[in-house]
Amino acid sequence: QAFRVTSYNVQRLGLNLQIRAMSEASSIDKHIVYSRHKDFELRNQTVVQRFFERASLWPNLTATECGLTGRKYTYGKLRDLTRNFGSALVRMGFKRAAGIGMPVTTVNPIYNVEEIARQLQLSGATVVVTISELAGTLRQVAQLCPEIRRLIVVGKPEEGFASFGEMLQDPGNLFDENIEINPVEDIFALPFSSGTTGLPKGVMLSNANVTANIQQLLHPTAMKLTTPPPTRNETDVLQEVYVCILPFFHMYGMVGVMLTGLDLGAKMVILPRFEGESYVNSLHQHHPSTLHLVPPLVLFLGHRPDLKLEAFRRLHTVAIGAAPLGLAVATRFVERLQKPDLLMQEGCGMTETTSVTHLSPVKNNQIGSFGEPLPRTKVKVLDVDTGKSLGPGQHGEMCVSGPQVMKGYYKNPKATEETIDSDGWLHTGDMVYYNEQNQFFIVDRLKELIKVKGLQVSPSELEDVLRRHPGVLDVAVIGVPDDAAGELPRAYVVKKPGVTLSQAEIAEFVDAKVSHHKKLKGGVYFLDAIPKTNTGKILRRELKKMSQ
Ligand code: AMP
Repeated sequence: QAFRVTSYNVQRLGLNLQIRAMSEASSIDKHIVYSRHKDFELRNQTVVQRFFERASLWPNLTATECGLTGRKYTYGKLRDLTRNFGSALVRMGFKRAAGIGMPVTTVNPIYNVEEIARQLQLSGATVVVTISELAGTLRQVAQLCPEIRRLIVVGKPEEGFASFGEMLQDPGNLFDENIEINPVEDIFALPFSSGTTGLPKGVMLSNANVTANIQQLLHPTAMKLTTPPPTRNETDVLQEVYVCILPFFHMYGMVGVMLTGLDLGAKMVILPRFEGESYVNSLHQHHPSTLHLVPPLVLFLGHRPDLKLEAFRRLHTVAIGAAPLGLAVATRFVERLQKPDLLMQEGCGMTETTSVTHLSPVKNNQIGSFGEPLPRTKVKVLDVDTGKSLGPGQHGEMCVSGPQVMKGYYKNPKATEETIDSDGWLHTGDMVYYNEQNQFFIVDRLKELIKVKGLQVSPSELEDVLRRHPGVLDVAVIGVPDDAAGELPRAYVVKKPGVTLSQAEIAEFVDAKVSHHKKLKGGVYFLDAIPKTNTGKILRRELKKMSQ
């Protein structure tokens, strides 16, 4: 009864959601932070159904353009080719694919054979799509993964691979648009993340997680979109333009950039890899309306001498996320761009939350804050000792709840339980605080995860590699701050008694076994013992203090 009265009064005051939420919360937890944005209706669709629906609004607009060759596809063509590819997979004997219900695990292309094989084994991948440059690597991976039934190559033909180009010529008649996929239950993507602890795990993101996150990001009060959505048959002139440089295997790139851009009818200029000159050329040529960056790219653009400001004449928003943005780096960048109305919009999230849970407000945002909860997202900050929720200004672990929170870790209920509690709160492992305006600030990372240029590095994975060295008795890996990369992995090693071993030998041993961003560029240090708790857990905080 009390709730109904409150809700009624509040509706009249026009503050509907927030206060209703507060009154609901008061009986449970007075410190829950609710989104300031209005609720929206969640659509019960798969990602592909949603894309088809949106693409048919503007079939003649350019959807994608290669930043190197200029090759373009319209939205209509992209929709047709998606259908053809799905149909060709069915013809090969795969019953379900992304459009036809088969989850996709996305792999960092710089991974080595062992790293890729581990992910494909854990995810049970049966079909692999790759580019010709990686065909050799994938042949070796396939030897280690008996479940792989088909290899498909984009680009020049390769022995043992089906041709992606030929599959796109499929008549498309086996693609079933009405296939029964349950958006809430069925997985769309299975990216890998080490979460708060341990080795990388498959993150089950349902179709509903992904479509909800797209809707949250494109909520009218959450994002600044100066161009109206295009309508049928209009030209490119009114389109949002994204120059896509962030990797699509990471959820920031896949959901925060690609799927959101496609939902919006944007022109997506795509570069196959980061390379300074081609990136700057694409900015000069395409005049992006929004830039999606990670802190090292903000640093890059802030210092690049050949960057012409003319490139930014249409720019209204710079979206930044994946790692903390230093104030000095941000300030230099903003000063350089000389655009007083530019919105520097920081976002924060995790693979486990599809991409984003927080975004800076469109007005009165504060550089240094990663923003406020997106629509339909609740947040609380827990005291790390008592587990009690905290009010403004107090430091604690951030917990989030919303439709973008993953279903769980694939075949790993233990890790799921450790991350999502029985009330559905996902414990992020990030130490934060919020102010009276519900703007959030990062303080530290409680979890062991290291982020190098925004990419994940799991200390457990590097420790496993180090333990394979015959001269190593014990080991711990932590991240140490670095101006350019954000963090770099550093190893503390205890040698076996009587063993002579140099720091360089250890670094070489690890570096030969891992991909580039995981290399021990933060150094190797010898210790007599690794600091640990009574239960044998590594005291990473102690090591961090030691490294300062
Ligand atoms: P990932 O799963 O790779 O997206 O990594 C998620 C983690 O990246 C978060 O839990 C944070 O520790 C960190 N992170 C993401 N965005 C931000 C941000 N805007 N500021 C600080 N840290 C961030």
